[in-house]
Amino acid sequence: MNNNYIREDFMENLWNVWFTELHRGQAGLSIKVKCCIYSGESQYQRIDVLDTYEFGRMLVLYGSIMLTERDEFIYHEMISHVPLFVHPAPEKVLIIGGGDGGSLREVLRHKVVKEAHLVEIDKMVIDVSKRYFPKLSIGFDDPRACIFIEDGQDFLEKTKNLYDVILVDSPDPIGPGERLFQRKFHQLIYKVLKEDGILVAQSESPLFHQGTIRTMYKNLKDIFPLVAMYIAYIPTYPSGLWSFAFCSKRYHPIDDFDENRVKSANIRTNYYNPKIHQASFALPNFIEELLKT
Ligand code: SAM
Repeated sequence: MNNNYIREDFMENLWNVWFTELHRGQAGLSIKVKCCIYSGESQYQRIDVLDTYEFGRMLVLYGSIMLTERDEFIYHEMISHVPLFVHPAPEKVLIIGGGDGGSLREVLRHKVVKEAHLVEIDKMVIDVSKRYFPKLSIGFDDPRACIFIEDGQDFLEKTKNLYDVILVDSPDPIGPGERLFQRKFHQLIYKVLKEDGILVAQSESPLFHQGTIRTMYKNLKDIFPLVAMYIAYIPTYPSGLWSFAFCSKRYHPIDDFDENRVKSANIRTNYYNPKIHQASFALPNFIEELLKT
């Protein structure tokens, strides 16, 4: 599990403060900190906003890096544009988690989207993002956006809505995030998706979280006719290699992908493009093996 500590090194009278996120206590990522902009505690988690030399502002929840200004575009483009360019008419989109607003921003760049519902358990995350990450949280003011402050599973159990695309922009499977990796949650998602719906869920690091991935994909394959992992390089996530679960009732992520839709959508991206879309589903042998077990 992740935990963190701030190490204060005094060298030649220079005060170096570093934030270190440890992965399972044996390896970690250290980022030099300029200053701590905000520190608070909601009923769910500790929330920090640190300003760093290399990555700009960084949102940290429960001691884990959620995003940095410098590399957030990679994760948010990849979780959103892959499913939204495969589904032929993603008019109604649901995001579970994602309280920083990054996925919502990317979803709303698609003119075809008529409604984007976001279900975030912790209002403090939204408030902190609006205050300290204005470029990320612009989607909250979009008239197509509707924000629900509640647990994602509770929302699924009550909603009468049906969605074309559902994104699970969850934290790690700890605390309130734990149930977002369970079979029951994924079964509820299946019920709330239309008959040609697509689910994409962030599915952790194929290097550090193999147990989580094995169980999660086994469950998903029992529920969805088509399940495929795609990957992206995210420098500030554990190991840098990150994965997403593409789960579909009908459409294939490559065979049903028409790159002309990307060109005509005219959405400027900094990571996602049609070649990256296709290549991201090509997996290294060790991950292919992992998904077979
Ligand atoms: N991109 C990040 C990652 O991959 O770790 C996740 C970003 S986002 C900050 C995760 C959000 O999920 C947090 O704001 C957290 O409060 C929210 N969350 C955790 N458990 C939840 C639940 N059961 N229902 C709804 N939102 C939840």
